[in-house]
Amino acid sequence: MKTHAFTREISVDPTYDIVVAGGGPAGTAAALAASRLGAKVLLLEATGALGGMGTSGLVTAFDPMANGERNLVGGIMLEIVEALYKRGELPPQVTPDFWRKRYHCWTPFRAESLKFLLDELLVAAGVEVRLFTTLVAAEAEANQVKGVIVHNIEGLRYIPARMFIDCTGDAVLANYCGVPCRTNPEFMPGTLCSLHAGIDWARVDHGLQYRKIFEAVENGHFTQPDRHLPGLSQVGEGLGYLNGGHLFHKDPLKAAGRTEGMMLGRRLVREYVSFYRKYIPGCENLELVTTAALMGVRETRRIVGEYDLTFADYQARRSFPDQIGVFNKFVDIHVRDCSDKEFQRFSKEMSDTGRLKEGEWFGLPYGIIVPKGWKNLWVAGRCNSSDVMVHGSIRVMPAASMMGQAAGAAAWLCLKHAETANTLRTDRLVETLRAANAYLPQSGLQPAMTRNEAGA
Ligand SMILES: Cc1cc2nc3c(=O)[nH]c(=O)nc-3n(C[C@H](O)[C@H](O)[C@H](O)COP(=O)(O)OP(=O)(O)OC[C@H]3O[C@@H](n4cnc5c(N)ncnc54)[C@H](O)[C@@H]3O)c2cc1C
Repeated sequence: MKTHAFTREISVDPTYDIVVAGGGPAGTAAALAASRLGAKVLLLEATGALGGMGTSGLVTAFDPMANGERNLVGGIMLEIVEALYKRGELPPQVTPDFWRKRYHCWTPFRAESLKFLLDELLVAAGVEVRLFTTLVAAEAEANQVKGVIVHNIEGLRYIPARMFIDCTGDAVLANYCGVPCRTNPEFMPGTLCSLHAGIDWARVDHGLQYRKIFEAVENGHFTQPDRHLPGLSQVGEGLGYLNGGHLFHKDPLKAAGRTEGMMLGRRLVREYVSFYRKYIPGCENLELVTTAALMGVRETRRIVGEYDLTFADYQARRSFPDQIGVFNKFVDIHVRDCSDKEFQRFSKEMSDTGRLKEGEWFGLPYGIIVPKGWKNLWVAGRCNSSDVMVHGSIRVMPAASMMGQAAGAAAWLCLKHAETANTLRTDRLVETLRAANAYLPQSGLQPAMTRNEAGA
């Protein structure tokens, strides 16, 4: 590739305690947690709204937060869902059992309600939020980030800070800093989600769409014969959110991949509109309101962290002394193409991946959000340190929020006790998260973080 040297003087902003890049579920939780504990926090978000995939991506359902016996995901994620419920902003069919108790139960919500709530929470906590502000470069030395360069309507600016948290979903900041990251050549396809009106939910048999998709594919209804349909879910009286239409082989780490993905997604949504109108009673008058502003990306970079969470940990239902969250969601790796082989692989994994049962959970150790050897950088959310299989479980919003909250609390603890990300006393972190209503049932806390065994 040809290169070009580019040098210029740019304005320098005041120093912050903590800069958080990316305002999705991980970034908003990180910024809230750190600011509430007393840090001076700046949150950078490239789009015009907080919430990430949950708002600008129109992915409007929180993954399971309970395990059939009790709520597992507490802290900021729980606070958000309870607040939406108390405001009467959740869809009519949703009850508190959805997130407080039920096993493998999704909690749908309205994107606009979440945007507004996050605005209110972040402002009330004193976080300085900069929307339409994209992190474009970073300066780091000796495993320590010194500052970041952002672009917004004011041009390019340099922002120094003491601690940095990367919640961009794609490990953008970590990548600029030279943190080793893994990508999966067989990455899961994205989906462009969409919002629809005019649905008579009283007449819709939810399970029918999963049976009729086979008939429609057989009849040649779709330009790509994709039998894996995540589906249409109720988010309001006549409203539904559609997670349908895989963007196969559109690489989200390439600008052309994202562009082609958005255009393909908009074309596919029209085919799904006619599918629902034709095949699903109650959807005869379904109307497309909008497609999302962000391409729905399921998998890009995963950092190499102090701990690499593996499928063996998941299968062992492993508990860690330094876990920052516990979770119970199956491994969900979408079909990578329309072949029979892929559909069989997906169907088998869905039923046969050592799926955790009711009452069970596995732990998320602190080391999955700490890039190996780094002192003042955390990477929380989708781009955590895990293998492909377990990433297929913890890539979702409740887990991202728990990781973000832990990163925010850890950054504040490092400021308070003059520690570094990779030497932080994790017993203090666990106690801090518990005090903020996280459910962390482990006993026998220890100061040192869990690291992979040497040579493992
Ligand atoms: C189609 C689809 C369906 C899904 N379904 C569900 C579901 O039903 N339930 C569930 O819980 N999860 C679901 N997920 C997963 C979930 O939405 C994401 O994995 C989760 O939102 C990840 O959170 P995050 O905070 O890590 O990243 P994101 O939500 O992606 O947020 C990252 C934020 O960072 C911003 N950003 C990126 N780069 C920069 C930059 N350089 N500078 C500034 N800002 C930047 C982005 O604009 C974005 O707001 C789904 C995902 C997809 C794609």
